[in-house]
Amino acid sequence: MPKIPSCWPDEAGLCDKRLPEEALRIRREHKPEPLTSERYLNGFNVSVWLYRESGGRLDCKGFLNTTIGELNRRFGPAQTPDAEVGFHSEMHAGQWFKEHRTLKPLQVFSERIPCPYMCAHMLRNDFPGLPWFYYYNRRTWEQGGKLLKYPADVLKSVYGL
Ligand SMILES: [Zn+2]
Repeated sequence: MPKIPSCWPDEAGLCDKRLPEEALRIRREHKPEPLTSERYLNGFNVSVWLYRESGGRLDCKGFLNTTIGELNRRFGPAQTPDAEVGFHSEMHAGQWFKEHRTLKPLQVFSERIPCPYMCAHMLRNDFPGLPWFYYYNRRTWEQGGKLLKYPADVLKSVYGL
């Protein structure tokens, strides 16, 4: 049973427990290999969104980021180094929900807090009022230019891996 995630804003309430459970399921059942090793815990971020269907039923849907390595395999190396950023899971999710307007997002869970320079901006603009839940906030673990904990360190603990 995954631990309870942190929330933003503080008064957001409780994360639906299906969201971290679904994120862990996506990692465990990923093919050809599970995404539960240290390398993949650091290399991938899972975002799962709770939504309501027009009929009222609640469900959730998960998204993985597209890594730079995967983009290189599919499309060849980026022409310029600054294009090598990968696609974040929250951006995939945001795009998907924009294409499925009958589904109303209610909660965003991301293993890592949405990045301030891109995903946070998109979420505030395109999904205002949507609460975020997360396990890992890089800023919490940065001290004097050193990173005290990586995502894998935190995720192993909260997922009991
Ligand atoms: Zn991001």
